[in-house]
Amino acid sequence: MESDIVLLARIIEHTPVGIVILNPDRTIHYVNTIAMHLLNSERDKLRYASIDPFMVDRQGSLPWRELWASVMQGNTHEEKIGIARLDGEEVTCTLNAFCMAGREGAQNAGALILRDITQELKIGEQLEKRNVEMAKMNAELIRSNVDLRRVSELKSNFMSIASHELKTPLTSIKGYSDIIIDSMKSRVDDGVYRMIESINRAADRLHRVINNILDVTRIEQKKLNLKPEQFDLALAAHEAVEELSQFVAKRHMAITEKYPGAAPFFGDRMRMTQVFSNLLTNAMKFSPDGSGIELAIELENGGQYHVMVIDHGIGIDKSEQKRIFDPFYEVGEISKHSTDRTKFMGGGMGLGLSIAKGIVERHGGRIWAESPGVMDNGFPGSVFHVVIPLQAAGRIEEPAVTAEQAAALRPPGGGDGKPSILIIDSDREVTEVTRMVLENAFDIIATSSGEEGLALAFQYRPAVILLDDLLPGLDGFRICRILRSQDETRSTPIVFISAITSRAEIEKCFAAGADDFLVKPFNSRELFDKVWRLLLKKNEEASD
Ligand code: ADP
Repeated sequence: MESDIVLLARIIEHTPVGIVILNPDRTIHYVNTIAMHLLNSERDKLRYASIDPFMVDRQGSLPWRELWASVMQGNTHEEKIGIARLDGEEVTCTLNAFCMAGREGAQNAGALILRDITQELKIGEQLEKRNVEMAKMNAELIRSNVDLRRVSELKSNFMSIASHELKTPLTSIKGYSDIIIDSMKSRVDDGVYRMIESINRAADRLHRVINNILDVTRIEQKKLNLKPEQFDLALAAHEAVEELSQFVAKRHMAITEKYPGAAPFFGDRMRMTQVFSNLLTNAMKFSPDGSGIELAIELENGGQYHVMVIDHGIGIDKSEQKRIFDPFYEVGEISKHSTDRTKFMGGGMGLGLSIAKGIVERHGGRIWAESPGVMDNGFPGSVFHVVIPLQAAGRIEEPAVTAEQAAALRPPGGGDGKPSILIIDSDREVTEVTRMVLENAFDIIATSSGEEGLALAFQYRPAVILLDDLLPGLDGFRICRILRSQDETRSTPIVFISAITSRAEIEKCFAAGADDFLVKPFNSRELFDKVWRLLLKKNEEASD
């Protein structure tokens, strides 16, 4: 059995840290194996050699000489230090140093415990570098995200502004062609009349496209407002079917309807009809002539409706069944869907499904698509599902005046001279169309300047004022507020004419004192009925 001393010596020798014992003059008295490897020398050569040439001061640590002096005074230290090995390489170590008092008059000695941390430091540095790189990449990602969001907002704003700008000239095209179709047929020859009819249809089509773009923009900006009312969902679905009946007949197709009797529902009727219409139009577009379409509404668990639109058409690949609901997404080229047996009514813009999705989700529902595989006519077919709660979510707003109600109103009889209408609109075309629609029944006074309009309002005291919201200079809102503040014009009916249909804009008009609001492009019937309705109301109030 080894003596304790020998055992201790062996432990020190093989301890996995470098141990160096120094004489007071900093010459080496002892090195263990690890320290010998650390200094890269041999034990014999190291004995009595000075440790100083090996010690390299590190920034932020106590310099070696000062450290030693302090150790000799009995202090212990823990520092970071560099070791210049004999092979020229430099390693970094942690250094624990303390003083060992000599026994029985023997001189003191200093003990150094060295642990090589070069590798750890390297890994740490690499990690730090990686962290910095990752932080930079993160910053880059955040920046691109912000950029993407900004681009998306710009796109939405651009689409919204461009669509509104298109609506103003469209008012003229639609208005003039309405007038010719309604009241000038005898004055134009048949060929010209047919051209005017096709201009009128094109204007309607363009109006639909603009409305679709605006709808998508509203959905993207989370600004789609609902006008909820109680109605029969089955009736709304049937209305959409009726509207398509002409096209269905042309394609020798048939739509089978399956409803649970009446389907009481609380939501936006116009928007839900739009969903049915978009799904049915697609079912027709992507199916061969002569095939059948089914439209079913089922009541599920008493709390929700499950709507299904099933066609026997070209189907949708599984990988595309989610993406088709993205705006402007169309699967491949339209022409590729066409087969000898499949004729298209014309390509879309890839907006119908994204609008349907926006409307359904705004009502608290879900929409999805699947392809059953092979239908009885050999085509894969598609099924569109909509699941929607009976009491759909949404804000309750005043129900709008229906077209029937408006049409029922006729000019109040009697009266000698014609009532006068003041049009204040910066767009000459809009003014001209409005003049043509109204001039048989009214005296028209028109101006494109806000300042002049205000003066004319006090001068002529018109029966109704039609006011553009975005006039240069004195704008419509200020004019309206001024008119409302004066006794002579306080009760004059004022209708705002605007290309902007946002809720905020409408609220601004009413807050300024408007009686009604007309959206460009309006049709002549709508304009006429609005004006007469206000006059009628004013007459009634005056006779009360
Ligand atoms: P579009 O107005 O172009 O039809 P949609 O948003 O309505 O746009 O539809 C997007 C795409 O989804 C279509 O271009 C078509 O590729 C696919 N799709 C929609 N409905 C059907 C259907 N019933 N059968 C097959 N494909 C369909």
